[in-house]
Amino acid sequence: MSAPPQQPRQPTNPQQPSDKPPSIGGCRCESSDNGAPSPGGKTQAVRNNPAQNQKQVKPQHNQRKHPNPAKQQKPAQSKGGAAASSSSSSPSVGTRPAVSILNHPSFSSLQLCDIGANLLDGMYSGCYHHSNQPKHPADLDAVLRRATQRKVSRIIVTAGSAEESEETMELLQKLSSQQASSSSSASSVPFPSLYTTVGVHPTRTSGLDGTPEHTKSHFDRLVACALRGVGVGADGKYDPSAKRTVVAIGECGMDFDRLHFSSKESQRRHFGIHLDLVKRAEGATGGKVRLPLFLHDRNTSGEFTQVLREARAQFRTGVVHSFTGSMEDLQAALELNLYIGVNGCSLKTAENIEVVRNIPLDRLLLETDAPWCEIRPTHAGYTLIHPDTHPKLLAKRPESWSVECEGVKGRNEPGAMVQVLEVVAGARNMDPVELAEQVWKNTMQVFWPDEVEQDAATKSSDNADAKVQ
Ligand SMILES: [Zn+2]
Repeated sequence: MSAPPQQPRQPTNPQQPSDKPPSIGGCRCESSDNGAPSPGGKTQAVRNNPAQNQKQVKPQHNQRKHPNPAKQQKPAQSKGGAAASSSSSSPSVGTRPAVSILNHPSFSSLQLCDIGANLLDGMYSGCYHHSNQPKHPADLDAVLRRATQRKVSRIIVTAGSAEESEETMELLQKLSSQQASSSSSASSVPFPSLYTTVGVHPTRTSGLDGTPEHTKSHFDRLVACALRGVGVGADGKYDPSAKRTVVAIGECGMDFDRLHFSSKESQRRHFGIHLDLVKRAEGATGGKVRLPLFLHDRNTSGEFTQVLREARAQFRTGVVHSFTGSMEDLQAALELNLYIGVNGCSLKTAENIEVVRNIPLDRLLLETDAPWCEIRPTHAGYTLIHPDTHPKLLAKRPESWSVECEGVKGRNEPGAMVQVLEVVAGARNMDPVELAEQVWKNTMQVFWPDEVEQDAATKSSDNADAKVQ
């Protein structure tokens, strides 16, 4: 095990408040309904406050019933060949594969991109439940290598504040050096290629409140990260050949479930900075880089889509990640030509799965939102995972972690993309590898459109050469 790739993000003395802005550890989709683990974040504080606990049991989008039963479609005939029926103890939500994706004949050609992983989270340094006392050594390098073994070749790390955007860029640099120094060993499994977002999560916009100078200094830090990450040097010159690490602006949007972190007014006031960031990156690269938005929407009663509708001309595209909305929410996002990010939180109930089944194939993206949003045995989607797709040696508690274990119960990781893929494929009665091919194409269109263009240009020039011969 190599040196810890990162330190816990909590203050060194838990008795003393950190002077850093509050960290809620990413999207925390799970925190609003079951009080999931809360390293480095506010869920612990919320758990200790009965008044705030009441907020946590508010109905979510995903608890609504399907509005129109007539719209429910029957799963199509499976293209994937042999399949077993799903668990008989719960209503059928799809078809569980007869063979694990890990043993699929085309597994070797599988390519996955986790579009949302919170790799800065303290859990990857062994710190759980708002403690800065590690329960086990930092193991992010092992987590990343497991992801590679499970065909995750790209990961987009989610950043949720100016500070996190800076820290993520440092982490990426550190991992890249670590990778370079270990690549001499033939047996070493490489890390997936890592990228990041730059932006302020809606529950963190209160960190931008204050004097205009204070807001501007945060914005300037975000601009610096975004420009550096798209290949603009300190001299303001754009280098198209520089490795691009920033592939989206966000995570941004609105979250009215957790107003104790940032008020509606604060969220509304600062959403526009993300559109400014898109514009700045576009301007500094002569229009070559048009970053998509990485979006978050919780319980906003249509205000989120209204804001985006008004701003739609100002950004190329975007993804509503960790989607748990209703069929109407899906429709509204599709009308704005947005993509939909699906993770374990999007697959909790039969109603969630029905919505996921209705996402047009060319609009679907997959993610884990790790370390959150794992697919649990109590979730409807769990029945669609083949038993062999689960890690064989899972530490039951952080304390039982060992070098050999393949994960920790309650801590999600990018390698679990194969499970998300298997559930969505099962729900749609599709072959998982065919589904992954389409999702990969969508992912490239959203985050790496220049690579898509380049591939198309190469292919057309190859065809022209072939005709001449
Ligand atoms: Zn989110």
